Amino acid sequence: MAATLMYGKPLAERIRAEVAEEVRALGELGLATVLVGDDPASQVYIRHKHEAAEHAGIRPVDRRLPVDVPEEDVLALVAELNDDPGIHGVLVQLPLPAQVDAHKVAAAIDPRKDVDGVTPVNAGLLYLGRPALVPATPLGIIALLDEHGIELTGARAVVIGRSDIVGKPVAHLLLQRHATVSICHSRTDDLPRYTLDADVLVAAVGIPGIVTAAMVKQGAAVVDVGITRSGSGLLGDVDPGVADVAAFLTPVPGGVGPLTIAMLLRNTVQAAGLI
Ligand code: NAP
Repeated sequence: MAATLMYGKPLAERIRAEVAEEVRALGELGLATVLVGDDPASQVYIRHKHEAAEHAGIRPVDRRLPVDVPEEDVLALVAELNDDPGIHGVLVQLPLPAQVDAHKVAAAIDPRKDVDGVTPVNAGLLYLGRPALVPATPLGIIALLDEHGIELTGARAVVIGRSDIVGKPVAHLLLQRHATVSICHSRTDDLPRYTLDADVLVAAVGIPGIVTAAMVKQGAAVVDVGITRSGSGLLGDVDPGVADVAAFLTPVPGGVGPLTIAMLLRNTVQAAGLI
């Protein structure tokens, strides 16, 4: 039997409508993005974030710096945005060029404006299971699982990927929801041994088709976070054959992606309540 596809768009649209309502009640909100260099994919992401913000009544502020900008100029811009009372969220688009230390930049963002959940303060609060601004993609993954009534308490959850913006935070959110969580990565020995045990499997790697049907337990819920651009469009980490084994599966594109932006807007509203 083919898996139920967990489309992100309907839920994302609902969240965006709720955010728009909250923004109307709150008054003017500002979301600043910082783009360093001219990476084409980053430019597309920034444009989508601005369009979505505008739609929700949030004022997007587009700040750009040249690719050879010194690190101190990026830090100075972050400091300026931190101090600007008209800005409620600050987001620095990754990747950054080699001369700019992404950890240093993340640590410079005011944790109250940290709508991407990248500051050590928010990462630490998430680790402690305390209220925090949490990266948008992991929030979207949990929302999508909840939307489909997937039980997390007591579930065996396996996350492939341990990045600071997807793998680690989604593992923490699953743990907060009382799943038993394993985190796999590039040095994991015998990946299928873990994935075959997963009731909930989250793949956040960036290698098309790394998760095959033979690696998935019958009836599992599989979330495909991966996005790889190819000549034939966007490819996920999950092989299409997984649909024959899993009970639930997110499509790529159209699964997790739309929720990432919706959750960024929701985080902006949350941030406005912190200032
Ligand atoms: P990342 O920082 O490159 O992390 C990838 C992770 O995959 C790393 O932890 C890496 O392990 C692990 N990995 C690499 N090869 C592996 C292998 N052979 N077996 C098991 N694990 C392996 O990427 P990311 O930022 O987390 O993003 C992951 C994917 O999600 C990318 O395709 C990205 O484009 C996509 N993404 C989508 C959205 C969305 O909105 N849909 C948002 C964010 C990201 P090590 O730590 O050992 O290197």
